Amino acid sequence: METVAIALGLVVLTAIVTTAIVRRPLRRLALETQRIVRDPSRRISMISGDADLKELGHWINALAEDSERSRDALHHERTLLASVADGLTQGVIAIDGERKIEMLNDAARRMLGVQSSLVGEPLLEFVRVPELRELIDHTDDASAEVQLPNGPRALIRAARTWGRAGRVLLLEDVTAVRKLETVRRDFVANVSHELRTPVAVIRANAETLLAGAKNDPVMSTKLIDGLHRNAERLARILADLLDLSRLDAGQYRMELGPVPVLSVTEQSLTAVETQAQQRKISVHVDMPERLTVKADAKALDQILVNLIDNGVKYTQVEGNVWVEARELGDAIRIEVRDDGPGISDKHRARVFERFYRADPSRSREAGGTGLGLSIVKHLVESMGGEVGVEPNTPRGSIFWLQLPSVPTPTEALAS
Ligand code: ADP
Repeated sequence: METVAIALGLVVLTAIVTTAIVRRPLRRLALETQRIVRDPSRRISMISGDADLKELGHWINALAEDSERSRDALHHERTLLASVADGLTQGVIAIDGERKIEMLNDAARRMLGVQSSLVGEPLLEFVRVPELRELIDHTDDASAEVQLPNGPRALIRAARTWGRAGRVLLLEDVTAVRKLETVRRDFVANVSHELRTPVAVIRANAETLLAGAKNDPVMSTKLIDGLHRNAERLARILADLLDLSRLDAGQYRMELGPVPVLSVTEQSLTAVETQAQQRKISVHVDMPERLTVKADAKALDQILVNLIDNGVKYTQVEGNVWVEARELGDAIRIEVRDDGPGISDKHRARVFERFYRADPSRSREAGGTGLGLSIVKHLVESMGGEVGVEPNTPRGSIFWLQLPSVPTPTEALAS
């Protein structure tokens, strides 16, 4: 009996010990697996004892490796997607079924005028635009052009995310395109308007001549003079338009180099001499001979002819025009001043616009095209300079431009 009890006790003890021996590595395996679940870069180290446990450990390690590879691949794809999205000029916003932001790229952040990530925030709280709400509610892919609050005008395309209730929004800034379209439309309308009058005069005069006026010497001289003046006007408009289109297309060939201001001014004066004499305008030139600018000589001549010609055109008979230049830091400031009627504040801000005229009848009467100052501005800015207009005292206007100065050889030696 006693022997049986001892034997039974031994069996129970062996079972307990065996279970403990088997359970310890199993427990360790469970713990290590748990750690792997939290951090797939970990691995199960050595499993002692049971071959089955060892194999299980091996397969858990294989699973961990697989999961780590998937995690790295996912991370790589996310980073790639984020950098592609941030590199886009188009804004991209992804929202979930509850219209909360899941992702937005740098361009979208710029367009919405926000710096923070906004992920998890409801989109419509930031962009309170009714059209956007409609766009998101739309069941199909849709697009709309909206004015973003304090931001650009944007063309937004909304696409459904595949198999989910969310949306991907693509935002394109169309502010510049729309502005350009308006400018172009206005420009075409202005050109047609400018061409209409001379063409109408030429047609009417030609018809009158053909109808018999050619036989009347007085009448025909008058009509032919009208033909000539209006043909000249058309030629001037076309020449200015051609210059502008060359400048716009970047086809106006400029050769920047040292240009002596005084000699170009003297050359420009010859182009306006006759008109100045006819109107008894005195043109005064005052500048040191040494002043040299970095410019294109032909462009600078065109600028000065335009500005001096305007001074002569718009100043009353027997008035004065001054052409002056001086150093101003690293630049040379050239001024064309007159003691004419001047330009009122409201017009002054706009005279550099194409076809803008402060005094349309005076401009047309003087043969102006309304394009001279816009060409001047384009030319000056293409040479890296600045241009502007200020009122002269006691009367008249000061048109000024600043161009980079080039030190003369003696100055360069002295410095
Ligand atoms: P335009 O061919 O009509 O002279 P511009 O572009 O040269 O065209 O000038 C635009 C307008 O600016 C002119 O129509 C005129 O009203 C005004 N303007 C330009 N220069 C002067 C000036 N020196 N004095 C007064 N008004 C001027």
